[in-house]
Amino acid sequence: MTTCREIHDFLMTWLDGELEPAVNERFEHHIAACSCCNNYVDSYRKTVELGRTAFDPCGDAASESTDAAEVHPPLPDELVQAVLAARRKASPPGDGA
Ligand SMILES: [Zn+2]
Repeated sequence: MTTCREIHDFLMTWLDGELEPAVNERFEHHIAACSCCNNYVDSYRKTVELGRTAFDPCGDAASESTDAAEVHPPLPDELVQAVLAARRKASPPGDGA
């Protein structure tokens, strides 16, 4: 049985594709069926995606911002975690303690 807690604990492992196939399947099953985890995964992915695209050198603006890389270092994992923690704290009560 996959619980919301497991989803949160192993999300990174899952995104890295390092879960066993059987576990991976249960994971995706739970996320598809659980709106709470669905939102969690979604916002996590968006956060990671934002971090990536913000420093994509292939963007249109790349030619006019050659020094952008030294202004903003890559999004550190700690920051992603902090954002997610803040989101969790901000979420309304009653979402299962
Ligand atoms: Zn869940």
